[in-house]
Amino acid sequence: MKTWVIGNWKKNPASLKDVEQLATAIGQQANALNKNDSSNIMIIPSALHIVPASQAVAASDVLIGCQDISAKSATVGAFTGDNSAQQMREAGVSWSLVGHSERRQYHRESGEVLIAKIKNTLEQGLGVIFCIGETLVAHDLGKTIPVLQEQLAVIKEFANSSDSVTSSLPNIVDYADKLIIAYEPVWAIGTGKVPTVAEVEAVHQEIRDYLIKVDDSLADVPIIYGGSVNPDNAGQFANSDKIQGALVGGASLDADKFLQIADSFFTIKS
Ligand code: PEP
Repeated sequence: MKTWVIGNWKKNPASLKDVEQLATAIGQQANALNKNDSSNIMIIPSALHIVPASQAVAASDVLIGCQDISAKSATVGAFTGDNSAQQMREAGVSWSLVGHSERRQYHRESGEVLIAKIKNTLEQGLGVIFCIGETLVAHDLGKTIPVLQEQLAVIKEFANSSDSVTSSLPNIVDYADKLIIAYEPVWAIGTGKVPTVAEVEAVHQEIRDYLIKVDDSLADVPIIYGGSVNPDNAGQFANSDKIQGALVGGASLDADKFLQIADSFFTIKS
């Protein structure tokens, strides 16, 4: 199974100069990592910084992702402020986050919107990093699994091609290698709090069971963990065979920390 270490830069850093420095450092150090064919490293800058970041890592195997994609059109059109999957691909992007909790929270992204984003992303040949996770309230009420199942129902829509509505959607069975699930408990994002490895493993097993029920071809979809991953705790997550990588926020803004996390995963998984 593939291993992924992915840095989500969110709306950081502040200046173009900082973007170039950070991306250049990551590109240079990434080349020295102990990787094999299954090791994948990606950075996800803001839309504005995709081109300079992509140029800065051009001599490395660091992939470029984007944080959001237009739900309205996969190509061009009168949708002020949107960036399409086609435009992202042209700019050097190969994967898009979809359903990050910050977009669900601040932009009220519904299941319908997420379905449109996934459709547009897949249709333009990009991969989807589909983020799911429960809030602290849901966690404390013991509702983690039902919440995740509801969020994962979006993926199920892509396997139901006999239905008249979903028949217009790409069949996920044909795109199993273009899907990553990122389990990110909302209460662990940017808080310094992390679930235990046993908790993450139990949740990942539920996600895996769900995916297999959708279709056997999804049995090898990577399921990665996100939420306050840092160089000190990366090894414990990497040691679990149920965790195929990490989505890293804060620590991905420091090249040394991000590369230490990548090194932990790639060394332990190799
Ligand atoms: C994220 O926002 O995807 C994330 C995992 O952030 P952090 O690592 O800062 O918790």
